[in-house]
Amino acid sequence: MTTYTLMKKLISVKDLVVEGYRLEELPDGTMKLIIRVRPVKAKQCRCSICGRRIPKYDRSEHLRTWRALDFGGVLIELEGHAPRGTCKEHGVVTMDVPWAFPDSGFTKDFDRTVAWLARTVSKSAICEFMRISWRTVGRSIGRAVDELEPDHNCRLHDLVRIGIDETSYSKGHRYITTVVNHDTNTVVWVAQGHGRMVLDSFFQSLTEVERAKIEVVSGDGAKWISEAVKFWCRPDVLRCTDPFHVVSWATEALDKIRREAWQEANKEVKELKKEVKPKRGRPAADDVERKMYEEAKKAARSIKNSRYALGKAPENLTENQAAKLELIEAENRVLFRAYQLKERLRILLKLKDPEDALAELNRWLLSAAHSRIPEMVELGRKIRRHKEYILNFIRTGISNARVEANNNKISLLIHRAFGFKNFRNMVSLIMLVCSDLTIQLPNRPIKCDNPLQNACSNTFCV
Ligand SMILES: [Zn+2]
Repeated sequence: MTTYTLMKKLISVKDLVVEGYRLEELPDGTMKLIIRVRPVKAKQCRCSICGRRIPKYDRSEHLRTWRALDFGGVLIELEGHAPRGTCKEHGVVTMDVPWAFPDSGFTKDFDRTVAWLARTVSKSAICEFMRISWRTVGRSIGRAVDELEPDHNCRLHDLVRIGIDETSYSKGHRYITTVVNHDTNTVVWVAQGHGRMVLDSFFQSLTEVERAKIEVVSGDGAKWISEAVKFWCRPDVLRCTDPFHVVSWATEALDKIRREAWQEANKEVKELKKEVKPKRGRPAADDVERKMYEEAKKAARSIKNSRYALGKAPENLTENQAAKLELIEAENRVLFRAYQLKERLRILLKLKDPEDALAELNRWLLSAAHSRIPEMVELGRKIRRHKEYILNFIRTGISNARVEANNNKISLLIHRAFGFKNFRNMVSLIMLVCSDLTIQLPNRPIKCDNPLQNACSNTFCV
């Protein structure tokens, strides 16, 4: 095997000819291998958009370079001509090269590898490992996703059960609205902003037939979602409230009660502190006042640090958190009763049978109304207003856990992706992670089971 053939095999791109190579040492000691390449005759002079054969626009002899994947830590650069041509349809365009996407300074395998890493690896790790900036990561993801799914709108066909959600980012200054397909568990639409107008633009991008196919729309309790659904969807569409939003209302109410209880307990501790002068060490057996002070302090601290213990499901509590709850049960009945109400609500939302859920929900509403805890009474009123929507969710049988997991994934991603300056690249990352798109890594057996995906151009995959 000649060195040229070996290099061609290592670059692993079809329709490429190696014309030469040279090794350079960069000032910092890094080795760089520059490989001179050109497309095979049949692939020369083609439009990079439509692939048609086109005449040359200019005779520029200017050489371009493309970063390729490293060979054992050695930087690899492909070097070659990419003249411009005139396409009847697309005007003056850069001619296509088989190893890179149009207007990219990286090879296709490089872009795909970056996109594959971005699904799971942290931003700083990608930048260091691939020796690129975070901006480049965004662009690479954009190109790789565009190759897999040239038209994101293909996800909008045949929607039946959808979920609408908004998430804030940039410290709550910006919003993003996402639409999820519950049947495939994928994100199908993403837009900047929130509110009625943004949601209207989603429904406008569907045809009338597609809108008529929608049977279930879930989301939080927002009025703008209900209004838009009423306006755009057919009259018998089932509007649902996601149970995890309902639980989060209860958790918020509970947290308000906890904060008030802590302020109350803290006040008491301060009062007691005035009466005793705390000394170091254990209180003497006869020092009743100091003992009372120590106990009040312990109780106040347990309330202060109980946010996670109160919010968690009992089966997931750590030993320490369980002990805190026991202390709250003994010391603060109001807070504990509010906690019990939240737990009852969480469990009833997991019921599968709508009849059982209705009976249990009615019992819960009665308990909340008679709890004599203002926050819980208020929560009861809110849940009564959304009662039908909550029951609709149980009727449709959409899995609560799946919706919640998807939502957590989206928030995490947005948090990670908002470093992107370009919103389109951010959407690409969300679309990539929250979908069944498979990125083909170079030189691996083909694994794409998604019919929507284009075939991989890798030599070893075709
Ligand atoms: Zn063209």
